[in-house]
Amino acid sequence: MVISLFCARVNVLLLLLALCSPCKFIQSPMDFGPLSFLQKTSTACVDFGRILFNSPSAVLRPQSSEDISLLLSFLSSSSFSRVTVAARGAGHSIHGQAQALDGIVIEMDALPSNIEIHKKGEGVVGVSYADVSGGALWIELLHESLKHGLAPRSWTDYLYLSVGGTLSIGGISGQTFKHGPQISNVLQLDVVTGKGKLVTCTPTKSPELFFAVLGGLGQFGIITRARILLQDAPEKVKWVRAFYDDFDTFTSDQELLISMPELVDYVEGFVVLNEQFLHGSSTAFPTHLDFTPEFHSNGSSNVYYCIEFAVHDDGSKNASTEEVVEEIARRMSHLPSHLYGAEVSYYDFLNRVRMEEMSLRSVGLWEVPHPWLNMFVPKSGIKAFRDLLLETISPDEFAGPILLYPLLRDKWDTNTSVVLPDAAGGAAEDERVLYIVGVLRSANPASCTAECLRDLLRLNRGIADAASAPGIGAKQYIPHHPSPSHWREHFGRRWERLAARKARFDPLGILAPGHGIFPRIS
Ligand code: FAD
Repeated sequence: MVISLFCARVNVLLLLLALCSPCKFIQSPMDFGPLSFLQKTSTACVDFGRILFNSPSAVLRPQSSEDISLLLSFLSSSSFSRVTVAARGAGHSIHGQAQALDGIVIEMDALPSNIEIHKKGEGVVGVSYADVSGGALWIELLHESLKHGLAPRSWTDYLYLSVGGTLSIGGISGQTFKHGPQISNVLQLDVVTGKGKLVTCTPTKSPELFFAVLGGLGQFGIITRARILLQDAPEKVKWVRAFYDDFDTFTSDQELLISMPELVDYVEGFVVLNEQFLHGSSTAFPTHLDFTPEFHSNGSSNVYYCIEFAVHDDGSKNASTEEVVEEIARRMSHLPSHLYGAEVSYYDFLNRVRMEEMSLRSVGLWEVPHPWLNMFVPKSGIKAFRDLLLETISPDEFAGPILLYPLLRDKWDTNTSVVLPDAAGGAAEDERVLYIVGVLRSANPASCTAECLRDLLRLNRGIADAASAPGIGAKQYIPHHPSPSHWREHFGRRWERLAARKARFDPLGILAPGHGIFPRIS
């Protein structure tokens, strides 16, 4: 123990000496036992967005929370005044949020996953849960928990994201209307604060840190371990898609579906702009779609919509999944005969985006720039947002999905750091509903040059600015802003709380510099 602590200290010192040396890069991998680090900017400066490539001076591959604690304790109490630190989970950010220019990137996948499943009834009272490393991927947790017939309740669409990475932003998918975002399904966190303090926190023990870190964009501490709520996993689900040619009918059916949580387990939706989307989004959906819409007629472009919902085959309903889907479908108003269903394993359903990834990888279209924009839109502004979107994008040229589906405001804990749009003061039932819109564009470098990518980023900023104005009143999800004043505006009346939390847990502004919210204080 004493020896290992000594070795760890030696390595942190070496890391910091390396940062100070005229040649900042450590050229060859070094491994000193308990704490190993290496200069390897190839992944640490790249993310899924492929828009920014900020090189760190060094990369830390921690073997334990203590390694991270040691580094942050040292930085926060020494004269290494300009060094910043970013945790990097799976690096699926868009705008360099997990990068640290000339700082240190901590590669969280180096921490052992150590997934422990605790099943209710098997020596565990209350609820089933999993303890998992902050650097583990959700797909790893799914594999492990399914061995016990369990699974987390709340997901993201794509599972090759890290637990710490999605808990730092929210974590949403088609289950969010029912169970809340992933940050509403966490019982406990182990966090290393910006001061290097290792804290185990819960909603009642060090609650300020617990809630600050959830949706906290990595600003207050590094999540090294999380306790995630689990539920019984179904073996199969019925996965259904229905098509629409009218926006109001589409959204009112989505709202109908989320009003029936006793029957429906998952609800999402897409804007269908072109053939490419229909083809691309159907890679994993195992039923042939006999849907051949006319995207162009009489010189104008037509837009269609698709609802995707799922019903778990878990024995909790009083009828078979087939009967449940029939009952739901009877109440819906989709285009006649354009409802398609398929029975798939729960695992394949949750892992559906992996098939799309493989398909895009096979044609070289996965590792391309992704100028994405995600926005929370109040129900009162969703139609205006749809109009704004369709005025600014060109349907024929748009590559990638546009997701649009409803969430329920009261499934989000306002103590966390996520900012939802303010309620506009309408009827309570309407105010409860929010939409998430994900404009998930791919920019193929073969046809989109650097100038074209800049134009797309400007376009996104224009959409975000216009949608944030009072008429629509939207807020960015996984926000990206160009200046601290934009951040202040983003957080609005929650800014003071955010700044107070930062002053308490990371007063020198060491953590997560990639967002550009707070400066590093010397
Ligand atoms: P990174 O990109 O590595 O990090 C993101 C931020 O979190 C950085 O600021 C980083 O410093 C911080 N961070 C990382 N790990 C930790 C930690 N352990 N402790 C504290 N801070 C940390 N999001 C959804 O909500 N729903 C979806 O359905 C969804 N689908 C997606 C599909 C794809 C293909 C992609 C690329 C992204 C998707 N996202 C989705 C967005 C994704 O959830 C976020 O970008 C998330 O932050 C990525 O996790 P990551 O592990 O890659 O984080």
